[in-house]
Amino acid sequence: MRKPFFFFISSLLAALITTAQPTQRSSDLMYPLLIKPKLNASFGKMRPNHFHMGLDLSTEAKENLPVQAPADGYIARIKIESGGFGRAIYINHPNGTTTVYAHMNRFLPAVETYLEKKQYEQESWKIDLSVPAGLFRVKRGQIIGYSGNTGSSEGPHLHFELRDTKTEHCLNPLTNGISVEDHVSPEPKQLAFYDYDKSIYEQVPMLIALIKKGDSYVPASPIDLPFEKVAVGIVASDRSDGSYNPNGIYRALLKQGEQKLAGFTLENISYDFTRNINGHIDYVHRYKGGNYIQLLHRPKFFQEDIYAGFAGKSFLLNTNNIERYEIHIADAHQNTSVIAFSIRKSGSQIKKIWSGQPIVYSQKNTYQVDGIKFHFSPDAFYDGFHMQVLTIASNDFEEKSKSYQVQPDYIPVNSSFRVSIQSSQSNLDTSKLLIRKTIKHKIEIKKAVYDGFGFSAMFRELGAFQLIEDRESPLVQFNLQKGALVKSGTLISITVSDNNKSIKSFEARCNGKWLMFKPTGTRYQYQVDDHLPIGEHLLTAVVVDEAGNKTVAQLPFKRL
Ligand SMILES: [Zn+2]
Repeated sequence: MRKPFFFFISSLLAALITTAQPTQRSSDLMYPLLIKPKLNASFGKMRPNHFHMGLDLSTEAKENLPVQAPADGYIARIKIESGGFGRAIYINHPNGTTTVYAHMNRFLPAVETYLEKKQYEQESWKIDLSVPAGLFRVKRGQIIGYSGNTGSSEGPHLHFELRDTKTEHCLNPLTNGISVEDHVSPEPKQLAFYDYDKSIYEQVPMLIALIKKGDSYVPASPIDLPFEKVAVGIVASDRSDGSYNPNGIYRALLKQGEQKLAGFTLENISYDFTRNINGHIDYVHRYKGGNYIQLLHRPKFFQEDIYAGFAGKSFLLNTNNIERYEIHIADAHQNTSVIAFSIRKSGSQIKKIWSGQPIVYSQKNTYQVDGIKFHFSPDAFYDGFHMQVLTIASNDFEEKSKSYQVQPDYIPVNSSFRVSIQSSQSNLDTSKLLIRKTIKHKIEIKKAVYDGFGFSAMFRELGAFQLIEDRESPLVQFNLQKGALVKSGTLISITVSDNNKSIKSFEARCNGKWLMFKPTGTRYQYQVDDHLPIGEHLLTAVVVDEAGNKTVAQLPFKRL
């Protein structure tokens, strides 16, 4: 009878593990800042095209706060980029986790020296550096650098991530050892109901406001739904003690009695998956200016799983009886709010006929009309819709095709797709063609390459597409006059502009030797240091735009 006994114990353990906090990796992490812990943004907070993958720790609107290692480890990676994380440092810990610190200013002097040496070796300011394990060991509580506002940051703060080193999945730091005072329960605001038989993109949700009554939240009005297969969404936010920023919730669970019917938990998210947020939310509602509605039911097409344990449970069955449900929403500290509601089937609805070509989720789709062709892979869409393309003639000299306007343009695309456009003209410089995509006045430019049908490029968003020709080279301007005299500390600045605002590469060399110019917007700057010897120099800047137009600009000067 040994086997059944062990089987019983192991199932009991499995049950305990799944109901307890998942992936408890590092039980006691030191808070990375030396000030009172305060959150600006939580893990899983909803952002355009991604979940927030870490915590935004308040630096009280200041820069240059010391940042300390929360546990022993070693510096494993340094990443420098003008957008994204800006200046970021990664520390590996012996328990198999990595902590990440982004938007930083200075690192330790020895690290800065090592980094600059590598940037000069690789002749690139932008760098993603793996650091050998033994090189920079850090102790718990040791200062590793100073916070800042570098990269895509909208104000001084520390972006902190906790990752599984091997898989690079981001873990919720609040359930894995980082503590922030939190006694505030999440606040549900609205319920949203959808007809599962229809595409989420081809209906408007039935929105029900919630009011607090006693210990729970209840609908402000009865919920009569004219459809049978009901998918449920929720608008809810959370905050921690002393913070007024509305953050995301950690978990939502839909229950009928003791039976768990649907729900999600934001505990473990990978960068490969994070764009699936566009399927997790009612994307169209948000696009049109509404709140983030999070779906409790797994979308029709979805990658990985924040809906663990609820595979295939995509809707509630709505009968003529009154059914009672509860939704439990919790933050990472298990502060919980309960929504109690009932639904009833009532009335029927009119079926709307949609025009356009049906695009089917989980399937390869091609769409071709006139002189344009789209290729969508099976993982492109979270739900189906009907696609149309409006054609607008063009007269502009640089425009080499009609403008093709996809309708609707607000359908989120999960994976990149190929757009191929035929030109309406014959006198083309085929090496200088671009595809311009416009959506909500936002422009994206890609180099176009001939693919047998037309000139094509990859995109990840719908909108209006047009083939354009670009023969104009970028403009390059120095802040110094020819023959200028410079000394240690002098700032040499090169301003770059382009007709299509699409600079592909920038490089500056002095007498053939690479010099590290740092980008800030459209300006590249270098402060004269030991990399530039005393004497006469010829500075050569080479700037190339997306179409391949190249400008070479030169500045003779003298270093004193
Ligand atoms: Zn952040």
